[in-house]
Amino acid sequence: MRAKRRRRRRLVRMAALAVCVLAVVAACGWVVKSGISMVVDAIETGNFSTIGNAPFKQGNGPPYVVAVDAGHGGQDLGAEGIYTEVNVTEATANALISLLEQDANYTAVRCRKSGEGMSVAGRAEAANKAGAELFLSIHANYDETGTASGFECFPQTAASETHEQSLRFARLLAAHMQAAGASLRGEAGVRYAFYEDDGSGGYTKVIQEESYEFDTNAQTFGVLEKTQCPAVLAEQCFLSSEADAAAFASDEGCKTVARTYYEAICEYFGTTPITG
Ligand SMILES: [Zn+2]
Repeated sequence: MRAKRRRRRRLVRMAALAVCVLAVVAACGWVVKSGISMVVDAIETGNFSTIGNAPFKQGNGPPYVVAVDAGHGGQDLGAEGIYTEVNVTEATANALISLLEQDANYTAVRCRKSGEGMSVAGRAEAANKAGAELFLSIHANYDETGTASGFECFPQTAASETHEQSLRFARLLAAHMQAAGASLRGEAGVRYAFYEDDGSGGYTKVIQEESYEFDTNAQTFGVLEKTQCPAVLAEQCFLSSEADAAAFASDEGCKTVARTYYEAICEYFGTTPITG
């Protein structure tokens, strides 16, 4: 009788142990399985990271598709300073596209032909149709007093699905321009532009610093609104400033800016820049 009870107790203990072992194995299996499915999800969606220091994995590159928009064009010459803006945007865009074309990690998309005009919607459409994974609109600034100087760029606003990636790219552009010798406007060269209804049928352009807390549905630049990938509009320098124009709008200056933008793009995607 006693021996039978002992045997039963031993059986109960063994059964309990077996249940525990099974539970642990099942838990491990679940962890491994969910880990695998997270990795598979990340590969399928391309979303390896949110904003941070790690490079974004976007789309299926390399090659990564980068759209380059030379601001203005055709009848629209842009600002007239020491240099004419459209000449500066085209020289910079051409040099940047040339660098991207020499790098097997990239496919460059030209949003408009040199010397020709293009609507804002047309520029965004060119990028979207080509499946662009990053969009850069190139501009230069002007100030009537001649006193303003420095680099600034505008990411997509918090209302955009690609706001965080756009902001990350904007910060990289500003950091690389600073390293190239540019002063940064505002807090750190990254700002937001809004067109706010002025109440009488028109719009007023409002510039906000990066720390601005979004509480508006106002529209930003059309190319940033209409592009379906992370997009930034950059004002590389002031055409009304002697020092800025010499450093970042002359023939050599445009090449310097193109190289700087190229290196920011490489850091964004986590590729090694080509030498030269
Ligand atoms: Zn412009």
